[in-house]
Amino acid sequence: MNAENTCIQIAVMVPLRRIFSYAPPPEGRLQPGMRVRVPFGKGSRVGIVLGYASCPPDVTLKPIGQVLDAHPVLPSALQQLVQFGAAYYHHPIGDAWATALPTLLRQGRPLPEPAPQGYRLSIDEAQTAQRQPGKLQQALREHLITHRVVHTTAIPKELRATLRQAVRRGWIEAVMEDTPPTQVAPSPHCLNTEQASAVTQLRMARGFNAWLLEGVTGSGKTEVYLEAIRPHLESGAQILVLVPEIGLTPQLVERCQMRFGARRVAALHSAQSDGERLRIWAAAAAGRIQVIIGTRSAVFVPLPRLAMIVVDEEHDPSFKQQNGWHYSARDLAIQRARLENIPIVLGSATPSLESLCNAQKGRYRHLQLRQRATSADLPVMTIVPLRRENLQGGISTTLLTACKETLEAGNQVLLFLNRRGYAPAVLCHDCGHVIQCPRCSAPMTWHRRQERLRCHHCGHESRWPQACPACHSTALITAGQGTEQLEEVLRQRFPQTPIWRIDRDALHDRDSLATAVADIRQNRAAILVGTQMLAKGHHFPAVTLVGIINTDQGLFSADFRAPERLLQTVVQVAGRAGREERPGQVLLQTHLPEHPLLQSLARGDYRPPAEALLNERRAAGLPPFAALTLLRAEAHQRYRVDTFLSAACQCVPPALVEISGPLPSLMERRAGFERAELWVQAPNRTQMQKALNLWLPQLAGLSSARHVRWTLDVDPLLI
Ligand code: ADP
Ligand code: ZN
Ligand code: ZN
Repeated sequence: MNAENTCIQIAVMVPLRRIFSYAPPPEGRLQPGMRVRVPFGKGSRVGIVLGYASCPPDVTLKPIGQVLDAHPVLPSALQQLVQFGAAYYHHPIGDAWATALPTLLRQGRPLPEPAPQGYRLSIDEAQTAQRQPGKLQQALREHLITHRVVHTTAIPKELRATLRQAVRRGWIEAVMEDTPPTQVAPSPHCLNTEQASAVTQLRMARGFNAWLLEGVTGSGKTEVYLEAIRPHLESGAQILVLVPEIGLTPQLVERCQMRFGARRVAALHSAQSDGERLRIWAAAAAGRIQVIIGTRSAVFVPLPRLAMIVVDEEHDPSFKQQNGWHYSARDLAIQRARLENIPIVLGSATPSLESLCNAQKGRYRHLQLRQRATSADLPVMTIVPLRRENLQGGISTTLLTACKETLEAGNQVLLFLNRRGYAPAVLCHDCGHVIQCPRCSAPMTWHRRQERLRCHHCGHESRWPQACPACHSTALITAGQGTEQLEEVLRQRFPQTPIWRIDRDALHDRDSLATAVADIRQNRAAILVGTQMLAKGHHFPAVTLVGIINTDQGLFSADFRAPERLLQTVVQVAGRAGREERPGQVLLQTHLPEHPLLQSLARGDYRPPAEALLNERRAAGLPPFAALTLLRAEAHQRYRVDTFLSAACQCVPPALVEISGPLPSLMERRAGFERAELWVQAPNRTQMQKALNLWLPQLAGLSSARHVRWTLDVDPLLI
């Protein structure tokens, strides 16, 4: 082999299932993981060097346009993780890389210069204070004068430019080098026996190990994470904490910062600007941040001294990406721990059936916290049968009475209803026609405050219809309740009581949620009405009554995971009750009071109903007892979808997998697309992968594939 037939392989950041070859640059050897800009089609694209390869001498290769990095952007373990994730989820490697990198790096921007570590006063304090005008004066007074040296992360974003200006004027100076870490604050608690045992075991963990930390709500799991990672932080190592949604767990970030110091800890999430994200990413990669708390994509943040990974609320479906690269951040985190040979902790009060199964098989070590950390007891659950109850806006007399008593005792009530808007449907009182979204097979939701009908699947909006499209009657009425209506009913019923509605319509950002949470904690006697947003992580000390308005929703769904999710949601919401000295109670409204799942749930423990569901899955041959992949297809015309899926069925590699379908998707039409799918089942993941590897090239070659949008969803979470 001579130099002429060596090519360099590039993962070009386009959604194409192939690797592209270019001529190597004449000088310097490129390392895998470096970014390059390459000519592509009529323009140019950013790509990642995968390595050198030999190619036939007769092909003419285009030269690489520009080398963007002096070093790989991701270290080797993370390059392997991207490679693994692209292969496992059968996603184009270039697009996987694009997803793994911060937006600005993906666009080819340079890695930022290290930002100053902090600022210190360079002239006399009093003099400084006099010279600073307005905003700057305030910034300096608040930050510099009290602290002398202030770390960059402690300075509000909007003041950074002002500070840079002060540097230019010589009033303050930037501190570039890292100062040694400050002392770590001791734990304010004396750990109980179970916590202490969990911490000891985790501290002794060396090498790759997966741990399931199963602890009832309020059992002090967070305290266990914090204490388990403490020695790592003291020795200068780094920790990655993955959380489902940062807006919903601000308390974790705060607690970490309080314990370990604001400058060691940074959050990484989608509400930040691209620049902000890149800055934190680069600081983590440079080893200047010790704890990264982030959502899904944080699993790809380079951490050169990574010692442990924590996945909090590991059961949460939002760890699975629902579009583009359908990866599970939890599962990739486990793979990352394996590649980096470090321990990983999966924590939850309601572990996923997958993780429970892994713990039972001994693949994960199981840590349990069976009691609440405070003196509080777990709340008592009671089923409220709705069949003969008098309902007011969806609330039974039993629940209303309990609300009244709770409020009179000066306590707070939390009512959970997982439906935004005023009513989930509008229908014709004369003929029963339901107003559908014109683009989806779903009813439109009525939002009364905005006076709009809105589709929660595609965002389509319209006004209240003048007449029924089917029979032209004008007798249109709403059906069912959403949080907006529940709030209205409660305001009429309890006019003197403060009521907070916590959902995506009422609170658009994490700041307003944080404000609401703070207000709620200040107050006594109040009602909180909310969706999933209320279920997670928050600690409301005065809540003693939790009402689950619509328990049955999860029992009727065609998604085989719906009962698991119902169970997890109810246990998590119930866990908001009675977390401090006052005991809590939970009322579950249902039309199916004899349902075995609810009966088992009402006894209070998560485990027995979860194990019953596991047994059902085993009997049905569903995950985690089999591997499942969905081949989804959509197109504007239904026949194109059917043609493609039928052809796909024909070329399935024999004997490895079982196929069901084509089946219409649960939502047959969405945003104007007709949708259907094939269910592919194999006895295990290895066999599934073998089959998919044989199948995929065939699928891509089908002529009918050109007329549909198709995706493979390996280990799908939402059906
Ligand atoms: P979880 O993460 O399991 O919901 P947390 O770690 O948030 O639980 O703890 C719940 C509450 O109990 C918090 O207010 C926390 O400060 C407190 N707590 C945790 N551990 C202890 C302990 N050992 N003694 C007393 N209080 C504790
Ligand atoms: Zn009608
Ligand atoms: Zn729609």
